[in-house]
Amino acid sequence: MKIQFCGAAQTVTGSQHLLEINGKKILLDCGMSQGKREESFQINRHFLFDPAELHCVILSHAHIDHAGNLPTLYAKGFTGRIYCTSATRDLCSIMLQDSAYIQEKDTEFVNKRRAKRHEPLFNPLYTIEDARGVLECFEAFPYNKKIFIDGLDNKVEVTFIEAGHILGSSQVLLDIEENGKKFILGFTGDLGRYHLPILKDPDFLGNVDILLSESTYGGRTHHNAEMIESELEATVKEAIEAGGKIIVPSFSVGRTQELVYALTELETAGKIPKFPIFVDSPLTVNATDVFKLHPECFDKETSDYLASGVNVFGLDNVEYIKDVNDSKKLNEFKGTCMIISASGMCEAGRILHHLANNISNNKNVIMIIGFMAENTLGRRIVEAKDTPGTKVKIFGEEHKVKAKIRVLNAFSGHADQNELIAYLNKFDKNILKKLFLVHGELEGQKILEGELRKSGFKNIFIPKRGEGYNI
Ligand SMILES: [Zn+2]
Repeated sequence: MKIQFCGAAQTVTGSQHLLEINGKKILLDCGMSQGKREESFQINRHFLFDPAELHCVILSHAHIDHAGNLPTLYAKGFTGRIYCTSATRDLCSIMLQDSAYIQEKDTEFVNKRRAKRHEPLFNPLYTIEDARGVLECFEAFPYNKKIFIDGLDNKVEVTFIEAGHILGSSQVLLDIEENGKKFILGFTGDLGRYHLPILKDPDFLGNVDILLSESTYGGRTHHNAEMIESELEATVKEAIEAGGKIIVPSFSVGRTQELVYALTELETAGKIPKFPIFVDSPLTVNATDVFKLHPECFDKETSDYLASGVNVFGLDNVEYIKDVNDSKKLNEFKGTCMIISASGMCEAGRILHHLANNISNNKNVIMIIGFMAENTLGRRIVEAKDTPGTKVKIFGEEHKVKAKIRVLNAFSGHADQNELIAYLNKFDKNILKKLFLVHGELEGQKILEGELRKSGFKNIFIPKRGEGYNI
């Protein structure tokens, strides 16, 4: 078997790992690269392999940095199947079309400027038609069930194991037979955490010979997920006292529903007053509907809560906004409110307008609840936390950061370094022959690698993009 790391290698976006088994090519994830614009533009348009040669794709979860480049794959000739869980398929059906819409609109915007300067025009990375086309390739399967991949002579079986990261998220287990030898490859996908709202806790993948592990929070720890509510309570109270707004950049899928769930719990317990909460993202509205369709992914607490009649996706003070005019009206809203909007890393979407309108008012709070990758506006805002007055560019204009920046550490959907090490220590080190760290920034990955070596792990690799290994 060969593995080539084609994305999320020494970085956190663009997850793509190419396996070649018995001469057939299987792609684990097909994520979109985000960050430096020019670089991402090239990476997303040019795969390191020929999409038409792929036998199939196995998808860990629906986040755009794991699934967002599937329509490009389709546009460039991929005709195979895409294996994933049911909730991942349903989330992809809305997220990929939404992403295509953003691609089309962004390109339109850029082309207007280019046309004025008589520069050649761009095509969008992909279109809504491409997104709809690739959705035809999806095949959904339940968790914990071994499935033979079609067309591989019963030599490769895939099992999806709960990852506890977002709705439908899975770790991937592959039972492989090649040249008469059997071995097992595991891929953690994005590994979630214990006690996250709504979701089940991650399960153990079981012993494997080869493991691809995420390493997003290498070198870093965050607060226990049980502290989500106390951190949230403190931030809400701070904003109410100052009479300011709370602006929350949030992934439409996952973090937003978990945040609304936590707010619902705090309000129901009387720990914070009911105050206006706006979820300003058409995609979130649709994603929340998908959540409602997949109670099989809920933990016991959420199931019990729902059974008791509480709408965990928001009490009557939560307003979901689809219409762009209603979104604009939020600019005139007086008094304390919370505006939750996408994109999660502040790279596109309505959140940019809300940040532009609110970031320079010292009464306001920008509440960060997700990971902000290098070179994103979100990261620059986080970095401005300790140096008020820092300027950030939004839509080409500079804005002084005067709002308070609050990073709610406990909210992360990823295991931190200690949680990762605890999880990885479950694997039998005598069976595990190679451990590849993916989906992390190099500096943090090296720290994690050092800690893992202390725990007795050998043969740890931190592959670069494009690097291949013979197994
Ligand atoms: Zn993810």
